[in-house]
Parts: sequence; C-alpha cells; structure tokens
Amino acid sequence: MCMNATDRRDFLKTAAAAGAAVVGVTALATPADAQAQEQSAGLGERIALTNVRVFDGDQVTSPRTVVMDAGRIGVSPLGARRVDCGGGVLLPGLTDAHIHLRDVNTLHALAGSGVTTGLDMASFPPSLVDSLRGLTGLTDIRSAGTPAVAPGSPQSQIPAFPADAVLTGPEQAVRFVRSRITEGSDYIKIIIDEPGLSLETVRAVTTAAHSAGRLVMAHATSTVTVVRALDAGVDMIHHVPMDNPLPASLAARYVSTGTVAVPTLTMMEGFGNLGIPGMDYAAAEGSVAALHRAGVRILAGTDSNLTPGIPVQPPYGTSLHHELELLVRAGLTNREALRATTSLPAQAFRLRDRGAVRIGNRADLVLVDGDPLADITATRAVRRVWIGGVEYTPTA
Ligand SMILES: [Zn+2]
Repeated sequence: MCMNATDRRDFLKTAAAAGAAVVGVTALATPADAQAQEQSAGLGERIALTNVRVFDGDQVTSPRTVVMDAGRIGVSPLGARRVDCGGGVLLPGLTDAHIHLRDVNTLHALAGSGVTTGLDMASFPPSLVDSLRGLTGLTDIRSAGTPAVAPGSPQSQIPAFPADAVLTGPEQAVRFVRSRITEGSDYIKIIIDEPGLSLETVRAVTTAAHSAGRLVMAHATSTVTVVRALDAGVDMIHHVPMDNPLPASLAARYVSTGTVAVPTLTMMEGFGNLGIPGMDYAAAEGSVAALHRAGVRILAGTDSNLTPGIPVQPPYGTSLHHELELLVRAGLTNREALRATTSLPAQAFRLRDRGAVRIGNRADLVLVDGDPLADITATRAVRRVWIGGVEYTPTA
C-alpha cells in the first residue's frame, strides 16, 4: 500500500507537529514528485511494530510501537497492519562499512543477517555495481568502484583491471577521479601499500576527489602507510597496522584531522592466522585499542569478499556480527559497537536518511532477540529484517 500525495502531506504535517526530523520526503510540489519519491522510498505498506523495545542510539527503551509507512519510519498506526514483536529489540538496520560486492547473493546474505546497507570498497566493472543498486527489499549499496593502485601491485596484475587506475604519478590523479565519477563511484578508494603510491600521488587523488565532493578511503595496513594516509588528508583509513600497535601520537592525529577508522578486525584476524611475518593480530587489536582510547570514530567493516586470489574471505552478513564482537574485545563498549554499525557510518558516509530509528528515516530495521547492550552476541539472533519498509524474505 502506497501513500498518495494527500496522505503524504498529512503524514508530513503530523510529523512536523510531533517535532520530528523528517528526512528526504519534503519535496511535494507535484504528484509526479510524490510518485517518484514513493518509488525511491520502496513500496512498503503501513506496518505497526507493537511491543518492541528500541535501541535509540543510547539505551534500549521500554516497549512501544514503531510505524513503517511507505518505506519510511512513520507516525500514525491508523490502518496499519500490526505485528506483535513480543518485547524483542529493534535496531536501526546495520551497516557493513567494508565489503566487496560479488553478485545478488551478496545482498541476500547481507540482508538475512540484518545488514541493510553495504558499503563496497572496490568492485568492477561498473555494470556489476549498477546491477545491484536500488533492488527492492534487498541491502542498499554504495561503491568505490575501481581503486587507485600502484604499478606492479597485486591488483594491477588482475587481468581485467582498468589501466587508468594504475597511477604512475600525481599528474594522473584528476583523470582517475573523473573516470570514477563518470562510472558512478560514490567515493574514491586508494590502495596505499609499501612500496606503492607516493605521498604526492595519494595527496593529488585526495585533492581531486575532495574538489569533486567525494570522500576518500585509504587502504593502509602498516604504520608507515597510515602515516602517508594521514599526511595526504584522506577521510577514512581502512584496516589497522598489523606490524605494531598504532602509537598514541598517530591515534591523536586521526582525532585532530577528523579521520575515521574502519579497522576490519575480522580480516586482520584472518590474515593473522596465516602466520605471515609482520601480520600480527595482537598488533591489530592493540591498534584498535589505541584508536578507541584516543576517541577516534570507529566503524564496523568486515572486508567480506569472494575475490579470487584473496586468501581470507569472511562470509557476507554473519561476519559483521563477528566484527562487533572483535571490536568489543578490543575495548569498545557494546553501545559503541552498535553505534559503529548504525549511526556512525550513516554520519561518516553522509547517508542522512538512516542509522537511527527516527521518523522520516528509511524503514531499515532489524528485530533481534535479547539485548545487545547487555550481550553484544544478541545481534546474531536476527528474527526479522525490513529494508525500505519491505520485509526481507530469503529466496527459495
Ligand atoms: Zn577490502
């Protein structure tokens, strides 16, 4: 059931009266606009989730009713289909801030585990990414597309790897960024390895991306590459040093520059288990502890992938729950771990319509048994998932 334009105006009036933050449903000039918005909001019916306790970003509330209306968190339960949630806990849909898209099965695995937003950190060709965008009732994605890499790097040797993403110097940065934007990349990814792209090149790509209004993600797994990423002014650093725990002085630089960390401890753990010299999981965990002590914004990301040749392939969906547990083990509180997969990624990636159970937001919701504030493993007990107001149902 969809709202018509009149219903929608009533909804907005009610929401405004309630002092609610209504996001993304304000342009109602014409019926055509309203129709387009109904499509973008998904085709969810009006559903009232009753007897549900809500993680509000801080606490788990007493039992209440949450309304989903035309794909958004709504206000009025009038005429809604009621679903008794039996005192279960409702979380904002979870975000995995580091995945690699494979195919539509990726989205099913994520959705089934309550991951309603998947942030891809390198996939190509662009047609693959495009084919997975905006699918009703499935995980909503964003993608970096093709990352910038150095000549001779492992990525540059993948047979179909785009030649214009192998950068030999800073003068290629503007063209690289322009190509990615033309292809539809939502943000720009740079692989910083040692040896690898020079500081000048990383800085030039960062500047070009920022000029185009795009966020910059850096891959860095050692102390020296983290320094290069910080020197270049990237927005987020993915992974953490595994050679040594991050020194407090470097963690402080994340804070002073507003750099966000996506440690991907699940991936670091997998590499730690391979016994490669210089890849020590204890150092990775120590790096996260240092970031946490310094007050750095930390996001949950797993590096889930099915990329041929990658020796560690965390499973889509379920590994996000493992990541939350590893973050708690590294020093985050349960509340901080939940924020790391809900409100913080929404804020850091400028996805202003999600990350909280708030009127007007996308109705991306996960119902779990138990209280993850008391026991973080409770996020694993996913009972039901709604994406854009549409309940996820596994295909046969
Ligand atoms: Zn990755």
